[in-house]
Amino acid sequence: MDGSKLNDKPVTETELLAQGYRKYSGEGIDIFYNKDVCAHIGNCVRGNGEVFEVGRRPWIIADNGSVENDIEVINTCPSGALKYIRKEVK
Ligand code: SF4
Repeated sequence: MDGSKLNDKPVTETELLAQGYRKYSGEGIDIFYNKDVCAHIGNCVRGNGEVFEVGRRPWIIADNGSVENDIEVINTCPSGALKYIRKEVK
């Protein structure tokens, strides 16, 4: 699933927050997670346990992985519970 899109359109932060996603900010990417959508399949945790660690607060730390790897892992999320917005490189 393409984590940069929602209903086939590029996601916006406003829309994600309105839908109950929480934001986990990183330097090059913001990751968004919606626990009500999560199917607890665990692809994220298996994909990169440094970025996604259940039980840690915050459980998502975007900067513990590269932006490219974060995107790869987010796109393995089958439910759409994980989304991302890539930031402009300054
Ligand atoms: S990959 Fe997606 S559905 Fe699976 S546990 Fe992670 S957030 Fe939830």
